[in-house]
Amino acid sequence: MAAIGMCETPGCKSIAQLQCPTCVKLGIQGSFFCNQDCFKKSWKTHKIIHSLAKSENTDGSNGEYNPWPSYNFTGKLRPFPPGPKRTVPRHIGRPDYADHPTGFPASENAAKGSGQIKVLDDEEIEGMRVACRLGREVLDEAAKVCDVGVTTDEIDRVVHEACIDRECYPSPLNYNNFPNSCCTSVNEVICHGIPDTRPLQDGDICNVDVTVYHRGFHGDLNETFFVGNIAENTRKLVQVTYECLSKAIAIVKPGEKYREVGNIIQKHAQANGFSVVRSYCGHGIHRLFHTAPNVPHYAKNKAVGVMKPGHCFTIEPMINEGGWRDDQWPDHWTAVTSDGSRSAQFEQTLLVTETGCDILTKRATGRPWFMDQLEKFDKFNAAI
Ligand SMILES: [Zn+2]
Ligand SMILES: [Zn+2]
Repeated sequence: MAAIGMCETPGCKSIAQLQCPTCVKLGIQGSFFCNQDCFKKSWKTHKIIHSLAKSENTDGSNGEYNPWPSYNFTGKLRPFPPGPKRTVPRHIGRPDYADHPTGFPASENAAKGSGQIKVLDDEEIEGMRVACRLGREVLDEAAKVCDVGVTTDEIDRVVHEACIDRECYPSPLNYNNFPNSCCTSVNEVICHGIPDTRPLQDGDICNVDVTVYHRGFHGDLNETFFVGNIAENTRKLVQVTYECLSKAIAIVKPGEKYREVGNIIQKHAQANGFSVVRSYCGHGIHRLFHTAPNVPHYAKNKAVGVMKPGHCFTIEPMINEGGWRDDQWPDHWTAVTSDGSRSAQFEQTLLVTETGCDILTKRATGRPWFMDQLEKFDKFNAAI
């Protein structure tokens, strides 16, 4: 049975069965017209309600897809339907969890509890250098496509294919059942965002976290990218987060305590009015994706261990515009700020050397992508 209403053209009031197709698509109730003529006559004023309905959704909600009706979102971002499942060709070496039904990382779990920080030998260090260099190449590919209108699933596809091109397995894929090949964390997402079909919007920030597994070793890094024109306070958040990482890396050398990293980071974040996430930490990395040491980014932490030549680990501060508290979406992955404020992050994998450290995932230019983007936008805005 077709729905019936009264024609909405002023002065008509005929029985009407024709419904505006755009309203149907947007879920707007009513919008009946008796015939095409009336519809055309009313179009100029009628179409305003389409843009009103859409403007309710311009903050990143898609208006229809809501897998968790009872969850109270902390900010404006919403999940979108997932993209396709991706697979890695069998000829590429894979970590143990890749084929486990729940993605359980058995080797990582076996090493848990000992707290022992592995000192890598020369061969292992070379393995890490190669994996980290490839990881950097993959993140750079992601950076090139991250733009207004591009979905995070498209970024995931680029990362996935860039991994395969380099004979790498994308480490996040099936790690504890994570569904994708990288994490994409937009705006109030702190980390572990799942790529989906939401197109990035002008003014968004998007962190892409890439880890590759190559010939037995993982290389892990992330950067936060600007999408289009960025508000001043968001620029500052991203800049300060990058500085937090740089300042922390500057103290890495033999004899330094792992717990000192958090003091450096929190001091700089707090001085700029920002807060430090406490639930997610840097980690040891080599043949295992996540292992000892645990490296908190907040002050007065109780991390154990002293840096020694041959240690490999990440520093990856997550800095929030508002409070430090985090919440989690019901997908059991997406970590968001409790107050919906924005969060930025940068990560490098480091090797402790005799005199300091090598940044194994360093970009060739030595500069993060957001600085290049800022320069470009400012030049563009000065020109118009
Ligand atoms: Zn990491
Ligand atoms: Zn990472």
